[in-house]
Amino acid sequence: MKLKRPASVFSSAGFCPGCGHGLAARLIGEVSEEMGINEKLVTVIDVACCSFNIDYWNFDTIMAAHGRDVPTAVGVKHIRPDSIVMAYMGDGAAYAIGMAETIHAALRNDNICVVVINNSVFGMTGGQMAPTSLPGQKTATSPNGKDPKRYGTISAVELLKNMDIAYLARGELVGVAGMNKSKSMIRKAFAHQMAGDGFSMVELLSPCPTNLNMTPGKAKEYVHTELTKFYPVGEFINKGGND
Ligand code: SF4
Repeated sequence: MKLKRPASVFSSAGFCPGCGHGLAARLIGEVSEEMGINEKLVTVIDVACCSFNIDYWNFDTIMAAHGRDVPTAVGVKHIRPDSIVMAYMGDGAAYAIGMAETIHAALRNDNICVVVINNSVFGMTGGQMAPTSLPGQKTATSPNGKDPKRYGTISAVELLKNMDIAYLARGELVGVAGMNKSKSMIRKAFAHQMAGDGFSMVELLSPCPTNLNMTPGKAKEYVHTELTKFYPVGEFINKGGND
């Protein structure tokens, strides 16, 4: 596979202004170039907002059925064990319709990387309340705020924390420090897969200004000040201390 252009000149023009997907996609492109794995990286993307990446990434890419990115990535890894395989999706695909797939791939310690963009709403379909929406969060389907007595909020990182997997981290797509840390997390996840260590997941907290009904600047602030309270950033598992 030949790159049509360096991944580092990736454009995020198809996403809404201020969306974190473009930032995450660029980080993945930069990491792939720096690690020299452009020819080996196979990405599996979901049908939601992340599907735009099929036009931007020049990696071999498969678009999976909604929420089925993880089992598709597992299948690719089985038939092409020399490939570096990454499932890339939003929190709706990873933690709602695809939650069982995510959990069971982690339980099996499948040797794939999963990158999840958590923006706390269902983005593509219009900003409905998601399992990741914060208690009290106003969304298209919870205009008075998510009622925590009726609807729970899930942190997949908490669920996976005690599993025997290779790497687990959460970053934020906000600010230079947040971006640098997120990039380092993606690099470590790929390195673990290349070492055959097993399942890696990086969750990236991301602004969705369109469905948060905020300006791009305010949405970033919201991610940095509010989302991180419920979803702390950091590294939670790093088997063997891979740096
Ligand atoms: S709806 Fe949200 S997640 Fe989707 S492209 Fe727009 S800002 Fe990004």
